[in-house]
Amino acid sequence: MSDVRTVGVDLGGTNTRAGLVTDSGEIVGRFRCPTRLDLGADAVVQGMVDCVRGAAEEAGISEIQAVGIGAPGPLDPFEGVLISPENLQCMHGVRLKEQLEAALDLPVVVDNDANMAALGEQWLGAGRGVDHFMCVTLGTGVGGGWVSNGQLMHGFNGNAAEVGHITVDWNGPLCPCGNYGCLEQYVSATAMVRRTREKLEAERPETALRSEGLTTQAIFEAAEAGDGFAAHMFEETGFLLGVGLVSLVNVLNVERIALAGGLAQAGERIFEPTRRVFMERGTVGVKEHVQIVSAGLGDDAGILGAARHARSVV
Ligand SMILES: [Zn+2]
Repeated sequence: MSDVRTVGVDLGGTNTRAGLVTDSGEIVGRFRCPTRLDLGADAVVQGMVDCVRGAAEEAGISEIQAVGIGAPGPLDPFEGVLISPENLQCMHGVRLKEQLEAALDLPVVVDNDANMAALGEQWLGAGRGVDHFMCVTLGTGVGGGWVSNGQLMHGFNGNAAEVGHITVDWNGPLCPCGNYGCLEQYVSATAMVRRTREKLEAERPETALRSEGLTTQAIFEAAEAGDGFAAHMFEETGFLLGVGLVSLVNVLNVERIALAGGLAQAGERIFEPTRRVFMERGTVGVKEHVQIVSAGLGDDAGILGAARHARSVV
């Protein structure tokens, strides 16, 4: 089909953003609004409707074929129902697909935001042309999306590729998911800051870093300025990420992994130890062929992936 135009929406805890996307993957109209959690679910849904219409209006296009939504999980992508996203309390149980289809009179697909980012990267970014691909987002949490044989994988109830919750230390800290020592407890931006703070307080290392107001950016800047303790924290985080990626590749057999999110911006500080551990511990005959790269689409990955996913119902 030619001239398919879909809108991708990224529903975040702070902002809702939409883009109208053409066949070639170009965003030709954009719209954003604050996610009005304070006004309740109906206002949030209305904001999404406004964003879809606003993006179409900005593009000067009145006819769109479908809408794709990337939203924080856990959710049911088959029914399009948000289950219990931690940062969208008022949206628990909302039948998003149903409500948006009624409001927009268009087919709507709803999926996990990390899945949408992975699909976007596979379509137009760091996974372009790679049929066995994974995108891992290192942000507040650790999200993942998995494309196998060119298809986004969901598992039996939509929870495949929850890469943040594989165990890297069976004796590690309790994770909100119920498991112990999950990857997310070590390599999310939040976890890196927490681990750094714990070490600062327990070990009193020689460093310019202070516990108060600590961020991954501050750790990065200190490391770049020659602070050994800060550099060590990146080394350790990369090590743990590498350990996690070895397990993931052993199960999923992906050819390329893209790292996205704030921590991936640290470049070689995080990539060098991650790749090194991956090569030390990965399976011979596999590891030599796997690429660990930086994601390419930034904040647009989710919008592009959602718009791409919407094309599956056109
Ligand atoms: Zn967990």
